Amino acid sequence: MANRFQIGGLEVLVVSDGKAEAPGTTYFPMSSPEKWEPHKRWLNHNGNVEFPFTCFVIRSGGKTVLIDTGLGPVQMWTFKGGALLDELAGAGVRPADIDIVFVTHLHVDHCGTVALPDGEAYRPTFPKATYRWTATDDAHWRAAPLPPGTANFSAEKMFAAVAGRYEPAQGGTVIAPGINVIDTPGHTPGHAGVVLSSAGKRAFILGDAISCPVQLEETEWSGLGDMDPKLARQSQEAVLREMEGSEDLLTAAHFPGLTFGRVLVGEGRRYWQAV
Ligand SMILES: [Zn+2]
Repeated sequence: MANRFQIGGLEVLVVSDGKAEAPGTTYFPMSSPEKWEPHKRWLNHNGNVEFPFTCFVIRSGGKTVLIDTGLGPVQMWTFKGGALLDELAGAGVRPADIDIVFVTHLHVDHCGTVALPDGEAYRPTFPKATYRWTATDDAHWRAAPLPPGTANFSAEKMFAAVAGRYEPAQGGTVIAPGINVIDTPGHTPGHAGVVLSSAGKRAFILGDAISCPVQLEETEWSGLGDMDPKLARQSQEAVLREMEGSEDLLTAAHFPGLTFGRVLVGEGRRYWQAV
């Protein structure tokens, strides 16, 4: 399944590489069954939070940009990925069509298809692409051990595969016309999102700066994956404040429905509503 959006002059294709699900109280340790009571619309029929691995293809200025690459073939807990290339093919996008890959942060559910095993080594999945993520995340994940629960993934082989094709990006970097990087640290040290701007329209794609829309309503809830929860929530607040009262669109890698939404305010709280 793929959804298409138009942000001013930018064409956006939204696809998913797969999904994970977890009990809401597991993913948000600060929550409890009682605290989830008013937020059940964010739980699936199993009573779990469902996290798609959403990836975005944006066409701008003659360039085709892929934001995040999902989990790919990486085995991690009960996570299931690996659908990205078929989803792209179904939407008429070949790996060689991608000019730039931007990864919001180097957790394996975002960089799992950057490079794929080819014999002993990995090869870049998108053969003509430049690969971009922040220098802060790059440095951190070159030195860090793999997250617990991860099997059959080698960060070292991924870095080796894209050596020479990697270009750091950071807040203010223009990836392509109308596609700007915005620093949103906390989930990882160098986490960054992108802002699409064209013809007076804006849309934010936030990676894991906000993992689930429930966090707009419960602003203290930080997910298990947040490395610096306090900083992550500050980044969230800064972006939401910037959008408040505007027509800007917002989505993130694990928001439901492969769609954008608006940030609305009701009963003194912000909430996210899919368009
Ligand atoms: Zn994630």
